[in-house]
Amino acid sequence: MKKKNKSSGAKREPGLFRRLEALYRRMELAYASCAEEAGLSCADCPTNCCTSFFQHHTYVEWSYLWRGLLELPDHRRREIVRLAEDYMGEAGSALALNAVPKAMCPLNSDSLCTLYSYRMMICRMHGTRNVLTMPDGRRRFFPGCARFVSLPCTADPSFSNRQEGGRVVSRDTPDDACPSLDRTPFYAELAALEREFLTRAASPLTRVNLTLAEMILLGPPALR
Ligand code: SF4
Repeated sequence: MKKKNKSSGAKREPGLFRRLEALYRRMELAYASCAEEAGLSCADCPTNCCTSFFQHHTYVEWSYLWRGLLELPDHRRREIVRLAEDYMGEAGSALALNAVPKAMCPLNSDSLCTLYSYRMMICRMHGTRNVLTMPDGRRRFFPGCARFVSLPCTADPSFSNRQEGGRVVSRDTPDDACPSLDRTPFYAELAALEREFLTRAASPLTRVNLTLAEMILLGPPALR
């Protein structure tokens, strides 16, 4: 007769999605603290971040998003798929003209996120000025959203936002005049979760570079 495994007393590590949720919470806290320090508030903002053109780069977030989508009633999910198709048409037309798409995210409904607790990392961190230390040690600075760059603390004349094709791009000189959110540890943690998630894949997968609409239309990522 097989012996029952006795608990060793060692704590089991929480599942991957639980750790992703915990990471998301820490990102939100860090974001809120930086926004408060800088004086950034989204109240009455004339722009809507959900029309920003973002691509996402991890299978683990893609899979987690689909966990949320599968919890929706079928009719709601079908509606979101239809909105994702509309999004692709609108975004495709803009890209064909070499313009940055401004289509509304298919998950936005009456200015609210349908899958708020499943939304992607960038939805939780977009807005504040931020800094990222690259693997080669270089530090890159990003100015933040349109409202952030108009805050009094950004009046430092040494800081000028560079725009290319309507998009604010990174700069590579330091700026201490205004609070910045260091995204580096969060990206590193997400990358570690992604590596762990990909150990489930039967063979090496190509790098993800997809809009949320594409992730919806493609279905959950296939690892086998
Ligand atoms: S996932 Fe939610 S928060 Fe993110 S862009 Fe779409 S509607 Fe907005």
